[in-house]
This record gives sequence, C-alpha cells and structure tokens, in this order.
Amino acid sequence: MIDTQCPICTSSSFKKISDTLLLCKVCSTVYNAGYAPAVYCDDYFGKEYHAQYGKTYEEDFESIYAASLFRLKIIQNLSGNNLSGKSLLDIGCALGFFCKAARDAGFGVVEGLEISHYAADYCKQQFNIPVHVAGFEQFAANRKYDVITAWFVIEHFAKPYAMLSKIYDMLQDRGIFACTLPSYFGPLFYCHRKQWINTHPQDHRIDVAPWSIKKLLKRIGFSYVRCFPSGYHPERFGAIAQKHKNLYVKLSNILCFSDTILVIAVKSF
Ligand SMILES: [Zn+2]
Repeated sequence: MIDTQCPICTSSSFKKISDTLLLCKVCSTVYNAGYAPAVYCDDYFGKEYHAQYGKTYEEDFESIYAASLFRLKIIQNLSGNNLSGKSLLDIGCALGFFCKAARDAGFGVVEGLEISHYAADYCKQQFNIPVHVAGFEQFAANRKYDVITAWFVIEHFAKPYAMLSKIYDMLQDRGIFACTLPSYFGPLFYCHRKQWINTHPQDHRIDVAPWSIKKLLKRIGFSYVRCFPSGYHPERFGAIAQKHKNLYVKLSNILCFSDTILVIAVKSF
C-alpha cells in the first residue's frame, strides 16, 4: 500500500496529480507516494552521469563552477563580503566543485558532505578540501556553520521536514541556508503535464512551489526566505515565449516561474 500522508505537514488531504503524485491541500507541496530512494554507487559521477548529460561529471567542471559562482553571489549579497571568518558546509558536495568555488570566493572554512567515497576522495585530493563521508541522515556535526548549502539534494530525502529542521539546528544564529529544488510552478508542470508525470524521478520525494517552500521554511524558524528561478527555459513554454525571451525572463524573475528554483533563507535571531 502506498503512503498517502504528506511528508511535510502530515495531512492526508490531497488532490491527485497522478496515481502516485499528490498535491497536499494543506501545505501545497507535491509529494511522491511511490517514492523509492536511489541506490547511489560510486559510478554515478562517471557512466551514469554521462548517460544522462553526455559527459562525465568531471568534464562538466566549467559549467558547474560557473553556476556555483552565481549561487555564491546571491549568498554573498546576504552574508556580506567578510567571508574569511565564515564557515560553509555543502551537503551532497559530489566532486567538490561548489566547495572549490566557495573557497576561491574567500570562505575561511569549507567542508563537504558526501555519501560516495570516490567523490569525497576526489575532492580531498584535487582541492584539499575536507569531506565527511556519510549520508546527511546519519551525519553528526561537531560544530555549527554560518552557511549550509544543498544543491538538488532536499528532494531526495525520505523525510524532508526532519532534514530541513536538522539543517536549521546546525546553523549559527543569522546563518544562511541556500538550496536548489525542483518546483512545480514552472513550464513543464503547466504546459507539459503528461511529460512531467512520466519523467518524474522515483527518488524525488517532493516538488515545491515558491509559496510552499517559503511557508515551510518559516514554519521551521527561518525569518527571511527568498526564491529565484534557477534556470530559464522559454522553449518549454512555447513559441511565443521563445520569441519574447527577454520578457519571459523578466516575468520568470518576478513570479519565480521556473522548473527549478534557488531558495535562500536566514536563521532568525
Ligand atoms: Zn502537506
């Protein structure tokens, strides 16, 4: 039997999107009642990644590093420029490209957390950045951090509410949490619903919308939450959006209409 209870607010009042994808009527999270966690193997960053993106994770360094700088700029806008005294933990750091960008940007302490031994060793050897080898559920931090990041990680957790609360507890007062997540308030969900349902990863537990993640993070205790589009895909909206790309980007920014979003939150003080 599938579990139809919302993993965020525990309500069982939902609207069906598909047989297993349910929209919670209380907290507006879409959750996957047919969720099955992925079994990560060390090969993920090689063959598996190549099959999905046409190159290995390692070969994707430049574009991941560029995206990291963009994300760091948004974090810096909130945290200020005095980064040398600040600590950052990247949950699910993969080969450590974001960690490297964070250290290059000036963070005094940078640590990664990664379940893959191969990825953790790569980060330690190539960039001399320490990585805790563990799943986040099992990870016991021995310090608090000024910044915690999680890029496309939260949606994979079986218990996302507990994991977000754990992140909140691991932050210093005024600490910053930044993450990217799949959002259903985007062109795939609204214009290509069948495709969205058919290609929905089984190992994604939740899909959020800007309004649902804001409400959720505030409920956990964060005092300031902002959402940004994490990518622009006018072609997914249709010919008219492609013809007026600049307008599409403007509207996407105003409404935070995007298939993936960047969320930034500050721990209350
Ligand atoms: Zn709910």
